[in-house]
Amino acid sequence: MEPEAFDLIIKNGLIIDGTGHPGFPGDVGIQGNRIELIGQGITLPSQQMIDARGLVVAPGFIDTHGHADAIVLVAPSEDSKIQQGVTTECIGNCGFSLAPVNKQYLIHLQRYVASIQGGFPLNWDWETTGQYLDQIKCPSHNIAALIGHGTVRIAVMGPENRKPTPYEMDKMKNLVSESMDQGAFGLSSGLIYPPGVFAETDELIELCKTVAKKGGLYATHIRGESDTLVEAVNEAIEIGQKSGISVQISHHKAGGKQNWGKVKETLDRVEKARGQGINIHLDVYPYTAGSTMLASILPPWMHDGGMDQALNRLKDPQIRSRIKGEMEQGIKGWENMIQFAGWEGIVIAFCKKEKELEGKSILQIANERNREPAETAFDILLEEAGKVVMVIYAMSEEDVRTVMKHPLVMIGTDGIPSSGKPHPRAYGTYPRVLGKYVREEKMFSLEEAIRKMTSLPAQKFGLKERGTIAEGMIADLVIFNPSTIEEKSTYLHPHEKPEGIEYVLIGGSIVLERTRLVNSQQGQVIRKA
Ligand SMILES: [Zn+2]
Repeated sequence: MEPEAFDLIIKNGLIIDGTGHPGFPGDVGIQGNRIELIGQGITLPSQQMIDARGLVVAPGFIDTHGHADAIVLVAPSEDSKIQQGVTTECIGNCGFSLAPVNKQYLIHLQRYVASIQGGFPLNWDWETTGQYLDQIKCPSHNIAALIGHGTVRIAVMGPENRKPTPYEMDKMKNLVSESMDQGAFGLSSGLIYPPGVFAETDELIELCKTVAKKGGLYATHIRGESDTLVEAVNEAIEIGQKSGISVQISHHKAGGKQNWGKVKETLDRVEKARGQGINIHLDVYPYTAGSTMLASILPPWMHDGGMDQALNRLKDPQIRSRIKGEMEQGIKGWENMIQFAGWEGIVIAFCKKEKELEGKSILQIANERNREPAETAFDILLEEAGKVVMVIYAMSEEDVRTVMKHPLVMIGTDGIPSSGKPHPRAYGTYPRVLGKYVREEKMFSLEEAIRKMTSLPAQKFGLKERGTIAEGMIADLVIFNPSTIEEKSTYLHPHEKPEGIEYVLIGGSIVLERTRLVNSQQGQVIRKA
């Protein structure tokens, strides 16, 4: 039955529906929060009309890999995602989530999640995942949450570096199961960060069995993205195979010159795994630099007992010289960031006290201070009480392209908007793909790029009513100018808004109009049904 009138009609746009099918000119009629009709020359009356001539109408982008867990609580109006056309963000990635909480170990959880907190204070007024999700009020964009394996481990075992007992394993499974029942979409892991780094493969397989039973996925920041990349991908595949879970390898990359090109091998392995019936995909951000906590440059044993212990140890000159030796020699199984980026490739993105360090490399600061680079990095960690985020230059452009082009790969930001100089991916990921890689370099078609940003992530995460333009779907949409869309953020000026995103709609409401925010905070928490 056709409606008699619409709340909103988008006319004359090039509709790219997210499935990868070729775009077609047409109109989209919206009633309430749904797409009611797609056609040509729709003449029914409507309350509002958008003339999308010369513009692309696409499903709102779904960020597979976000870290807005703290931001959505304390700064729900934060708009860096809307500005780049993202209408839904999956949070709780890399093993970090803000729930479930065991108050007994709260201090350890607080230190653990500091890296994704963006400097925002939190009141920690929740324990379960359900209670945490209830605290998210009127976010700018929709939120879908994963449970962090590190968070679950801390809730049961604190920061300890050992295997869980059978009793602890059961407790972790129960927490994961309860979180899934309360609306989480799956489990994430961060196997380079303590306490995730302390977990053996079996622990993850066991937890993933629980998640798989509930229809959730496993998104993993794998155990190594440089020298041990291939083994780490194999571990993710093994977890998928032995638990039956749907696997997502997060921010796929090969760090360190000596490892460039290995992504061809890992993508081959992923394809083979799919041939064996494992449901596995990946995501990527379109940059050759990554970003994480500066403390990740320290070897794993330094993290035993948490950040305070690590900082205490850093005061000891003997320990400092041991670390320096290990940074030169490496330790088996350790993701040694110094080996793969060098001190010149590690740049301070955010710190609390000495703001003038932001934007400078460790090498540069070391030269200014007339001190060894390693000593300088240790000093900075102590001065800033560990609260330092770095940008790390370690990937090759060719690898980024190889990964991005692969049909199993989606786009995710891995961004944490914050003051200082955060990684520009937090502001420009999607316009960068559409401007640089689609329009300028013609690396893939607009339709394929949009599929990687919409229907593919929607299918993977189980966001059933989103990710394509079709009658009956929720009207989360982005309308952009394909000839002007462009990232404006840079490493030096990361906060610049992109160009070319003309309109963004969430649930049928216009939240961005002619590049200006209007009627914001229309997002909602999406719970897994
Ligand atoms: Zn990660």
